[in-house]
Amino acid sequence: MPKANPRHPKFLIPSGPELRAKGWRQEALLRLLENVLSVGEDPDNLVVYAALGKAARSWAAHRGIVKALIEMDEDQTLLIQSGKPIGLVKTHAKAPLVIMANCNIVGQWAKAEVFYELQRKGLICWGGLTAGAWQYIGSQGVIQGTYEIFMRIAERRFGGDLYGRFVLTAGLGGMGGAQPLAGRMAGAAILCVDIDPERARKRQQIGYLQEIAPDLDSALVMIDAAIKEKRALSVGLVGNAAEIYPEIARRGIVPDVVTDQTSAHDLVYGYVPKGMSIDQVRGLRDDGQGQLMAASRASIVEHVTAMLEFQKRGSEVFDNGNLIRTQAREGGVANAFDIPIFTEAYLRPLFARAIGPFRWMALSGEESDIARIDDLLLEMFPDNKIITNWVRLAREHIPFEGLPARIAWLGHGERTALARRVNELVADGELKGPVAFSRDHLDAGAMAHPNIMTERMKDGSDAIADWPLIDAMMLCSSMADLVVVHSGGGGYAGYMTSCGVTVVADGTDAADERLDYALTNDTALGVMRYADAGYDEALDEVAKKDVPYIRLS
Ligand code: NAD
Repeated sequence: MPKANPRHPKFLIPSGPELRAKGWRQEALLRLLENVLSVGEDPDNLVVYAALGKAARSWAAHRGIVKALIEMDEDQTLLIQSGKPIGLVKTHAKAPLVIMANCNIVGQWAKAEVFYELQRKGLICWGGLTAGAWQYIGSQGVIQGTYEIFMRIAERRFGGDLYGRFVLTAGLGGMGGAQPLAGRMAGAAILCVDIDPERARKRQQIGYLQEIAPDLDSALVMIDAAIKEKRALSVGLVGNAAEIYPEIARRGIVPDVVTDQTSAHDLVYGYVPKGMSIDQVRGLRDDGQGQLMAASRASIVEHVTAMLEFQKRGSEVFDNGNLIRTQAREGGVANAFDIPIFTEAYLRPLFARAIGPFRWMALSGEESDIARIDDLLLEMFPDNKIITNWVRLAREHIPFEGLPARIAWLGHGERTALARRVNELVADGELKGPVAFSRDHLDAGAMAHPNIMTERMKDGSDAIADWPLIDAMMLCSSMADLVVVHSGGGGYAGYMTSCGVTVVADGTDAADERLDYALTNDTALGVMRYADAGYDEALDEVAKKDVPYIRLS
């Protein structure tokens, strides 16, 4: 029986032992599709997160996908092109059940305007990273990454935590909504600006955001008190970041850390320009795209200029993966890239070891399954400080949304070992149902994104998209259940290509084989990608873990 969903009553949370499909593998993918909508930002329009990231191209396409997943046999493969099912071909039981290509536009045509036109004609949709691949798990998906960034900054600049420190950010959407909780977990007094009161309320309702201040003055009083008392606190403020950031700078206040997670990547469907209401923006999306793009860019120029001013006065300022520097530079801010990207600044040593955001979803719908896997993590990785610290914090702070899920940054060999052990627990009946394993597309071997993931790679290979393509082909040969190649849509058109993967632990020997091959090869490729770019951490990993990288002499 599916569970009620207080957030979106029409979109129930799948759960229970009854299957609608012919096997658990197909049922698992169906549940994951249902899940991304149950935790999505605007499921009525199939939008999951990042302004336009969709689970399927249209409701007709969605119905077609659901029907195929229910009716298909294990020796068939469902083909999906930009969120629309196009065929069910005969393969074999070790082949992926679903393969997708989403939003891949030929180079010279890969521009936001072309994407919007193709989308208007119903020919394409953007799958975000994890929306169209049915892997999104709510704001939890990005929370450990955000937390780890805050902790790296804390270690480098503030003695190990952020107690008594002021973090200023914006964006309380599907991903940005993780910021207040991640900030609080790191000890900060964090102020999160969002133009949409609904988003702020939603984050408060699910326990990610503590307070919503009525105005900037009150917000700053609350933050100031928390700083003085060295008390962790998250405060939301409804307003436009392009107004609030410069106003804070004008008052001479210098936050310790400044970033932003508005949907600045998309000037039409994401960012809200200064002086416009959300309704005005909606009214211009079809017929006033040019006007909207110009207005958004002008606001982003002010927004980023304020961020640069904070940087000049000593704040730790970083881009959190939303293309805001790129938009500002195109608007004339020549030094926008003085602001570093989070991947290069804080996380690359982890990615170079293929340590990244691995995740799993309890398909039974039972929270106790995640609790058991939390225990297992502590048993299996007692010396891994990142993991033990994270499990303790996650248990204490992170509320479940949709299917109970967990994310943890694990690397080569670790992911495989955990997943295979979980498969045994499913087989033994220790867990109440199968578990799906997946990861973010922002992972070592899985993404080419020269302004986010692969910015300033040591060997200059930033824009080479061969890696995610090799990853996808390799994962098909490695028996993964779902494999997808996504490229950027909306404002991300032309900026990125990524690969996603899902493998289901249903307790069978066949699942054990799939988990072993797919997860091992996926992280091995991640290590190889960084070894090939000359990163010492990756070369160390190659040697220590016997990664089959071919090093030319
Ligand atoms: P979203 O569309 O769900 O939320 C964006 C939020 O920004 C909305 O709540 C919107 O009201 C708010 N907003 C827009 N313009 C504003 C303005 N001028 N002032 C204040 N608030 C404004 O998007 P999301 O899923 O939260 O993603 C946010 C951005 O982060 C996207 O660009 C996305 O691609 C990027 N992202 C980064 C990572 C990462 O790993 N760092 C991961 C996922 C997404």
